[in-house]
Amino acid sequence: MAHALGARASVSPSVGTDASLRKTGFKDHNKLRFDNKLWITLSSVNLKSRYSSTKYQFKVMSMSVQQAVRSKIPVQALELENANEPPLNLYKPKEPYTATIVSVERLVGPKAPGETCHIVIDHGGNVPYWEGQSYGIIPPGENPKKPGSPHNVRLYSIASTRYGDSFDGKTASLCVRRAIYYDPESGKEDPSKNGICSNFLCNSKPGDTIQLTGPSGKIMLLPEGDPNATHIMIATGTGVAPFRGYLRRMFMEAVTTYKFGGLAWLFLGVANTDSLLYDDEFSSYLKDYPDNFRYDKALSREQKNKNGGKMYVQDKIEEYSDEIFKLLDGGAHIYFCGLKGMMPGIQDTLKRVAEQRGESWDAKLSQLKKNKQWHVEVY
Ligand code: FAD
Repeated sequence: MAHALGARASVSPSVGTDASLRKTGFKDHNKLRFDNKLWITLSSVNLKSRYSSTKYQFKVMSMSVQQAVRSKIPVQALELENANEPPLNLYKPKEPYTATIVSVERLVGPKAPGETCHIVIDHGGNVPYWEGQSYGIIPPGENPKKPGSPHNVRLYSIASTRYGDSFDGKTASLCVRRAIYYDPESGKEDPSKNGICSNFLCNSKPGDTIQLTGPSGKIMLLPEGDPNATHIMIATGTGVAPFRGYLRRMFMEAVTTYKFGGLAWLFLGVANTDSLLYDDEFSSYLKDYPDNFRYDKALSREQKNKNGGKMYVQDKIEEYSDEIFKLLDGGAHIYFCGLKGMMPGIQDTLKRVAEQRGESWDAKLSQLKKNKQWHVEVY
C-alpha cells in the first residue's frame, strides 16, 4: 500500500473499509513486495498507521530509502476500461443475479445517531459497473402490497470502484443506512415499520445470498475525458457512496487509463464526528495529495454556522462560494448525492450567493446543466 520513493512496490491486498481494516488488521496475504524481492508482512502494523502512518513510513524508511510515500495499488485493467458505454441493466428484477455477501461492517461510532454499514458483495465479476452507478437489491419475502410477488427493487449507490474493495473486479461495496421507524407520538422504535431492504442488508452475514439487479444510472458517472478536471462533490450521509468510488479511482488505484491530476473537493455533511463515513480513507488522500484533494466536513450537531445555527453542507458551500463559483466558471463538475431534503437548502444558498455576485442563478444553473457540469442523485 505504501512504498518508498525509488522502489516500486506491488501489493496483493484485500482491503476493506476503515472499520474492517481496524478489526481484522492485515492478514498474511497482505504483503508488500519490492523489486529487490524483499517482502515484509504488515501484520504488526496497526491500522491507524496503514493510511496515515508514521509507524509504517518508519518501517519503510528503515529499508534504507530516504523518503516514503504511499503508492497507488496496481490493478489488472478490466475490459471495462476499454468500453465506450457503462454496463446497464445486465440483470433485471425478473431475473436477478444471485450474489454473496462478503462482509458487513458498521461504519459509524457509538455516538452516531442511527447505523450505517459498509457491505461488500461478491458478484464474481458478473455484474460489472462503472463508478457512480447503482445496484438494485430485491429483499427476500413477499411484497405486502402485492401478495404473491417479490418486494420491489431498492437502489443503492455503489461505494467502490469497478475493481471493488478486493481490487480484482469481483466485488462491489454498498454504504447502507438502516431505516428505522420511530413512532412520532411515543418516540419509540416500531420494528414492524422499519425499512425492509436496508435492515435486511445491514443484518446479513458473510455467505448469505442476495438478489442483485443493475447496474443502473448514468447521471453520476465520473467524466474521465479530462483527467485534470475539477470535481466538486457534495454529500450528505450515505450520499458519499459514489464519491468514495471516484476518490479511490483517483487516489488509491493505479489505473493506467485514468491518471487523475485535477482537483477533487469533497463536502461531507453528517451529524457528528462519530457519523463520519470513510474518514480515514479521505484523510489519507489529503495527506498524500494535498494539491489534488480538498475535504470539508459539516457536522450539524457539533459545529455552528456563521449565524450560530447548525452547520450544514450549504453553510460550507457558502463559506467557499467565491472559489466554488470560479471553479464552476472554469468548467468544474459539481455533484450532489444524499437525501432529497438536502437540495432545497443548497439551491437557496447557491441562488443567494449568485445574486450577491450580481449573477442570475437560473441562467447559471441552466448553463451548468447544458454543459453537463451539474450532476444530482438524491433519494
Ligand atoms: P422501506 O421498507 O422501503 O421503507 C421506507 C421507509 O418507510 C423507511 O424509512 C421505513 O421505516 C418507513 N416505513 C415503513 N413502514 C411504514 C409505515 N407503515 N408508516 C410510515 N413509515 C413506514 N440508501 C442507502 O442507505 N445508501 C445508498 O447508497 C442509497 N443509494 C440510493 C440511490 C438511489 C438512486 C436511490 C433512488 C435510493 C438510494 N438509497 C440509498 C435509498 C434506498 O434505495 C432505500 O430507499 C432505503 O434503503 C430504504 O429502503 P428500505 O427497504 O429499508 O425501506
